[in-house]
Amino acid sequence: MLNEAVQNAINSQINNELFSSYSYLSMSAFCESKQFRGCAHWMRLQSQEENSHAMRLYDFLIARNGRVRLMPVAEPQHDFGSVPEVFEKALAQEEQVTNQINALYELAFKEKAFAALVELEWFINEQVEEERTARDVVHKFSMVKDDPAAMLDLDRELGSRMAESAGPRGAASAE
Ligand code: MG
Repeated sequence: MLNEAVQNAINSQINNELFSSYSYLSMSAFCESKQFRGCAHWMRLQSQEENSHAMRLYDFLIARNGRVRLMPVAEPQHDFGSVPEVFEKALAQEEQVTNQINALYELAFKEKAFAALVELEWFINEQVEEERTARDVVHKFSMVKDDPAAMLDLDRELGSRMAESAGPRGAASAE
């Protein structure tokens, strides 16, 4: 059985992951409005991935005989200066989620919630990957600058992203 502080913090993180999912969906919609279908596809998959992160914590609480408490999900940003800016926001968001996961890990450590620590290790590894992926895309946009042909190529490349369950990391994800 989880202690109350850890349970509350995991419930808050479920909300953070759902907000992250909602935010990526909003980013996807913005990309669609700019006819960047590949970017929109990438963001939509990212939104689904964040949802699976929320569900992973949800399932963990249930497995530990805890109580899931869903809270209102905040309204995400819906307008952006440009498509490249969307990816900069995505990177900033991932850095923020990393901080949230670290704080949660620190709490679980202090509370000696060992099962939670093991579960959260997966998230710590995942955030390393998430930040790297977002940083790579931001870097690619910075190389492309305002070259329309290169921009279209990049949009096509991002559009080829596969769903997590079909990818090499699929085996590690909780579905
Ligand atoms: Mg996440």
